[in-house]
Amino acid sequence: MEYKKNDMLTVTIEDMGHDGEGIGKIDGYTVFVKDALIGDTVGAKIIKAKKNYGYARLMEILKPSADRVEPLCPYARQCGGCQIQALSYNKQLEYKQNKILNNLMRIGGFSPEEIHMEPIMGMEKPFHYRNKAQFPVGTDKEGNLVTGFYAGRTHSIISNRRCYLGVEINEKILDIIMEYMTRNHISAYDEAKGKGLVRHVLIRSGFISGELMVCLVINGTKLPYSEQLVKELTKIPGMTSISININREKTNVILGREVKVLWGQEYITDSIGSVSYQISPLSFYQVNPVQTKKLYEKALEFADLKGNETVWDVYCGIGTISLFLAQKAKQVYGVEIVSAAIEDARRNARLNQIENAEFFVGKAEEVLPGFYEEYSRTHPGENARADVIVVDPPRKGCEESVLDTMVKMQPERIVYVSCDSATLARDLRILCDKGYRIDRCVGCDMFPQTVHVETVCLLSRKAQ
Ligand code: SAH
Repeated sequence: MEYKKNDMLTVTIEDMGHDGEGIGKIDGYTVFVKDALIGDTVGAKIIKAKKNYGYARLMEILKPSADRVEPLCPYARQCGGCQIQALSYNKQLEYKQNKILNNLMRIGGFSPEEIHMEPIMGMEKPFHYRNKAQFPVGTDKEGNLVTGFYAGRTHSIISNRRCYLGVEINEKILDIIMEYMTRNHISAYDEAKGKGLVRHVLIRSGFISGELMVCLVINGTKLPYSEQLVKELTKIPGMTSISININREKTNVILGREVKVLWGQEYITDSIGSVSYQISPLSFYQVNPVQTKKLYEKALEFADLKGNETVWDVYCGIGTISLFLAQKAKQVYGVEIVSAAIEDARRNARLNQIENAEFFVGKAEEVLPGFYEEYSRTHPGENARADVIVVDPPRKGCEESVLDTMVKMQPERIVYVSCDSATLARDLRILCDKGYRIDRCVGCDMFPQTVHVETVCLLSRKAQ
């Protein structure tokens, strides 16, 4: 059977794809239906038809899945932030567990026995978990100021100050900012025209410290009547940093390079376990501190450090994992491409009086092989060795030259932290063909209500 555009069909959803879209089959024809969940029987309309598969719009839920729940957020379907809020949290976890397992089997070619998959680490309370929010500010058709979130795959703003992923105080902060802008006739930025002042509001909160940061991203260098805004915002308990960030470029990139403090200090402090971190508006910092702690503790447990090890943390960001590991290792080396992140890493090392962590700026695929070759040259007859190597690469995974050098450094253990289990599977296959095996593997739900999932894997060197 072949379908064409605008055909209506009834289909039962049996699976969910990468972006959480429902997948069903009728007469050998596969349909992808956004917002349909496993177990739903839906009426859908084909919007794009290919020979063997097509994309359809959900028109009607004829028989809801037993795992369907009422989303907390009335905008859950339109908003680009959440994809699977209508799925019960237990089923979300099962979906993520299977996603990891399937990728390791299908892409990595591992058998379930080889993977040693453990139950995914979920959240007790899977809402209000984000410590950072970036709200775009704009103007609606009637000319009113709006702030909220982008609709999926677009830049039209859904007016909504109450996001259930962020902290509750965000709403109050946005109310104050919107009221201040209206009162003083301060314009919102218009993306199409490149005109108007306020582009985004960035809010960060330290879950442990209770400190709050508000940063207005503006298309200009000065915020008029800012003292009025400061006066209101500083009434909020925990307010620590109020700043503007200057971004005059016509770009999708949210933040510009320059930050000017309006009140308080430029950064807030927060901690994960016993390590403290200073976080400025431009710093990268994990957004779910509760799950980050679980993830890092798992990485530390997998690293199984006794105190005399040399450890590498490749793709180290601001050194969060490095500093965590440094407490238990002899020496830690971190590698990261963004130099500002390395400045943060060094500052955070000092802040915590950690002296056994050294950081290199550069591409992992250049720094690691470069270090290895330089060591061999300066230590004839010897090779640079590591006891444990931790990697936490971006979605595209590790370059093959990084994996090759890792193998040459002969670590007893490799801890692979991954935000994309497809590239994880590819890389684990390479490492396992070169002398390693998977000992343990566990998912961590850092982003409930979305389709994303982190994985941490322990590999050990097979006896030669
Ligand atoms: N481990 C850190 C961050 C991991 S995110 C933490 O938990 O906080 C992945 C990091 O890899 C980012 O900081 C990114 O800037 C960095 N990165 C991306 N490509 C890189 C490359 N080719 N070499 C080194 N670092 C890279």
